[in-house]
Amino acid sequence: MLIQKLPIDVIKLIAAGEVIDSLSAVVRELAENSLDAGAGRIVISIQPSLWRVQVADNGRGMDRDDLFLCTQAHTTSKIKDYNDLHRINTLGFRGEALHSIAQLADVKIVSRVADDCGYEICCHDNHCSTINPVAIAPGTIITVENLFKNIPLRRQANPPFKQQIKQIQTLIGQLSLCHPQVTWQLFVDDKLTLYIHGDNEIKKILSQLSKTIKYHDLTSQQITINTPEENSLSHLDLVLGLPDRLSRPRPDWVKIGLNGRVIKSPELESSIYSAFHRTLGRDRFPVIFLHLKTSPRQIDWNRHPAKAEIYLHNLDFWQEQIISAINNIFKITDNNINQKIP
Ligand code: ADP
Ligand code: MG
Repeated sequence: MLIQKLPIDVIKLIAAGEVIDSLSAVVRELAENSLDAGAGRIVISIQPSLWRVQVADNGRGMDRDDLFLCTQAHTTSKIKDYNDLHRINTLGFRGEALHSIAQLADVKIVSRVADDCGYEICCHDNHCSTINPVAIAPGTIITVENLFKNIPLRRQANPPFKQQIKQIQTLIGQLSLCHPQVTWQLFVDDKLTLYIHGDNEIKKILSQLSKTIKYHDLTSQQITINTPEENSLSHLDLVLGLPDRLSRPRPDWVKIGLNGRVIKSPELESSIYSAFHRTLGRDRFPVIFLHLKTSPRQIDWNRHPAKAEIYLHNLDFWQEQIISAINNIFKITDNNINQKIP
């Protein structure tokens, strides 16, 4: 007999390594938890050479019992049963991130709900401490240290720190576009390297994220759409560069958000390109952030742990809506320009 059942610690390590493969994956999971907790301010501090990440938020926090449960396998407050899988309206729902991180690093979680004191739990080497009371403001601070201490090869497989910091800045930029009401701070080795003020101004965020995008070259519009078969309303938020003023030599500034998350969707991207094709021609590309907010029943997030690739139902319908929304903006801006010319 050659086949044997793997020991549970090996099973857990393999599973954890699939969810968390980089510093940026830790930041993504912790920041998404902060957003799901309704935070309005998220402060991220990283010390790459120590493989250390800390995310502090002013969200709703966890009580003592939840703090005890949150690092255990398959524990979540976001779904309860099979039916909830079809109506996910949070960024997380698998209940595996904190558990995975605790398999790969030393973790300290300090959290407080508004009507109690704060509590702290520390997890090292698959063992979590007893919970102790601490004094903090309402919210949560999660500190992850010595990431991949038990998989040194994973550290080597990650790109140089400079590149990892870039990945994290890009990630925060994408999250901030989808959550413009949140204020973000990123510290690298105690130095503030990114600050995004949460005043709901996507145009401002776009022009902050790319020095070549100028605020005044952008236009924005929100469109409400009757969703077929759902009897509900969806929204398309569009912020785009006016083609006569702003275009790019590469398709690097076409971003699509879906219910709070930047996604990759070649199908929706190709609709955007075809809408811009007439005005931009073949070798220039648009600057656009398009955020589709629709019923969770339209989406299957289960394709990949990072949830960047998705199945969107009624894809043809959304492609048509996107093309006609962009064409409409062009018509409106054309009219404005014509009206201004005497
Ligand atoms: P998921 O996000 O898929 O539920 P996680 O492992 O990321 O799984 O988190 C487990 C649970 O811990 C969450 O469902 C949530 O209840 C709680 N939690 C994690 N981070 C925070 C936070 N920053 N604020 C409040 N609760 C949190
Ligand atoms: Mg999560």
